[in-house]
Amino acid sequence: MSNNIAGKVVVITGASSGLGETTARLLSAQGASVVLGARRIERLQSLTEELNQNGGKALAIPTDVTVPDQVKQLVDAAVQTYGRIDVIINNAGLMPLSLLERLKVDDWNQMIDVNIKGVLYGIAAALPYMKKQKSGHVINVSSVAGHKVRPGNVVYAATKNAVRVLSEGLRQEVKPYNIRTTIVSPGAVATELPDSVTEPDVAENIQNFYDEYAIPADSFARAVIFAMNQPDEVDINEVLYRPTAQKL
Ligand code: NDP
Repeated sequence: MSNNIAGKVVVITGASSGLGETTARLLSAQGASVVLGARRIERLQSLTEELNQNGGKALAIPTDVTVPDQVKQLVDAAVQTYGRIDVIINNAGLMPLSLLERLKVDDWNQMIDVNIKGVLYGIAAALPYMKKQKSGHVINVSSVAGHKVRPGNVVYAATKNAVRVLSEGLRQEVKPYNIRTTIVSPGAVATELPDSVTEPDVAENIQNFYDEYAIPADSFARAVIFAMNQPDEVDINEVLYRPTAQKL
């Protein structure tokens, strides 16, 4: 298959750890220019230094995805530095799971702000450029939880369902502009995500589950590369995957 990755300008939110960081490494190694956003700027800077030393093109921009102006500045920086934006990966997210009856309203709000509004702000920042270019690719990160609601994951599942719904709506709306849209919905992948659980007993259960089942983060990066690498007329709309051992 021809390489449809080299030379592309890719913005990734939540690139300071986990799926975003691993994807930045793989895309950079395949010749993409990567523009990385997250709040922990020192992590982003050491990653971009490493990628640039290895011959890549990488830029770190401090970004809180709950602040629309900061997401716009991230995307603007990509266009100012590299001349265009080919792909945005709206990946930043958190998963503070608990039963609704525990009333963790701050956790609910944070998930809504980061997992839903953060994705929308990424779309708002990238869409004007992609429309003008008449090309682009929006990759939004949902989850198996975007397909399955269970006791304890209700708000998280709601946010990840929202990501799927708005991605499908976006897909239909951007037909005139030659823009591709992909949802990637992973199962358990070994990252820092369980650290976002705030209830100690839930955190312990989730960590045990991840220790038993989680697969490496390059599984996600390969799904992104699969979608990006297709010929321009092929639009991979969703990749849903799990560890082989994960039942639900
Ligand atoms: P990590 O916790 O390792 O990474 C989360 C990333 O999101 C970090 O880079 C963090 O950066 C960033 N982030 C969190 N809040 C904000 C914010 N307000 N502004 C900017 N960035 C933010 O977890 P993952 O890599 O696993 O998570 C990535 C995505 O994958 C999430 O959307 C998650 O829901 C999804 N996912 C993960 C699965 C898994 O099993 N790992 C399964 C299914 C989906 P910083 O703190 O520096 O801002």
